[in-house]
Amino acid sequence: MKNSVNFPPLNPPRRLLMGPGPINVDPRVLQAMSHQLVGQYDPVMTGYMNQTMALYRELYKTKNQWTLLIDGTSRAGIEAIFMSVIKPNDKVLVPVFGRFGLLLCEIAKRCRAEVHKIEVPWGEVFEPEQIEKAIKEIKPRMLLTVQGDTSTTMLQPLADLGEICKRHGVLFYTDATASFGGNPLETDAWHLDAVSTGLQKCLGGPPGSSPITLSDAIVEQINHRKHIEEGILADHHEQGQEEMVYSNYFDLGMIMDYWGAERLNHHTEATSMLFAAYECGRLLLEEGIDNSIKRHKLHGDAVLAGIEAMGLKPFGDLKNRMNNVLGIHIPDGIDGEEVRSLLLNDFSIEIGSSFGPLKGKIWRIGTMGYNARKDCVCETLTALESVLNRVGFKTTQGAAFDAAMQVYQ
Ligand SMILES: *Cc1c(COP(=O)(O)O)cnc(C)c1O
Repeated sequence: MKNSVNFPPLNPPRRLLMGPGPINVDPRVLQAMSHQLVGQYDPVMTGYMNQTMALYRELYKTKNQWTLLIDGTSRAGIEAIFMSVIKPNDKVLVPVFGRFGLLLCEIAKRCRAEVHKIEVPWGEVFEPEQIEKAIKEIKPRMLLTVQGDTSTTMLQPLADLGEICKRHGVLFYTDATASFGGNPLETDAWHLDAVSTGLQKCLGGPPGSSPITLSDAIVEQINHRKHIEEGILADHHEQGQEEMVYSNYFDLGMIMDYWGAERLNHHTEATSMLFAAYECGRLLLEEGIDNSIKRHKLHGDAVLAGIEAMGLKPFGDLKNRMNNVLGIHIPDGIDGEEVRSLLLNDFSIEIGSSFGPLKGKIWRIGTMGYNARKDCVCETLTALESVLNRVGFKTTQGAAFDAAMQVYQ
């Protein structure tokens, strides 16, 4: 017993996670994760895998057969798609309006893509015409977008981009990690070829599983590439092999063979994470996607009303904001990190800061998943107001709570 003194049991503090993610996990999801395992090829397990595919088809609003989980955090989904689709020197176009657009550029570069980025100032989004103009000039193979970039809290409208991609023969991908479940997404109606997400935002789960969906068109290209690579891997002297990027873990061709009828062995499916993803999906379907989006909008609006009533200024172009996370300008003379640490230490509430050009300039408050609730919003607004007054930013006490309550009435 002596040794265990140095390693006490885990006892994390009770926190209210009101930042840009992760958020507090829905207790039903925690419970689902605590179930005992079943074997990898147990018909019960393969049945769960099939059910999970069917569930996420509904959530993604798609008929895509290949709707499955990538084991790993959200960027595992991104990497699996990019690694399996992009060939060296492929042109890709990335409209960047925040940090996650830059992440897409970085991952695409690691796949040896020729990356073309277009940019708008952080806090804005793109007009479809800007993207079409760039597509015409660059003629990319893929358009890589972020739907909701939590670094700026902006939501890129995607509804018109699929038509444009179709017209120009471009594959259309979006990272919907931060937006999925809290903002509309129509995979088939918007002609998306690939979408990836994660559990730790509006889905109310822990990080560690990335549900993705793939159109038939992109699957055909993945399988075509797979056959070429099998040839190259078999023949080590084949020219150009050095330039190819090979991942075993993220090889979607192999992952589809594992999730498909053939059930060819690949990795061991992360069973407990599949249980989590399944329960997150069930929660969302039970509530109804449209109701979930409305709920995220209601609580997001309440935060916005409270923030404005405190005399704080929201960040960015509000007509393109995500429902589930709000950026807030840190007022002049106030130390943003001091406010965050008072909130954490004295109220056990976490809110976010930001990155790059916004570092030290904005806070971010998320209302997502299990925490898109009235009590979470009221606690956070009231605590923030108290802390602000303590550090010298005077507000009309009670105004924020009142403004939020008006949204709720
Ligand atoms: C939060 C977020 C992620 C998270 O990626 P992880 O690998 O799960 O850390 C990815 N993309 C976007 C747009 C996000 O907001």
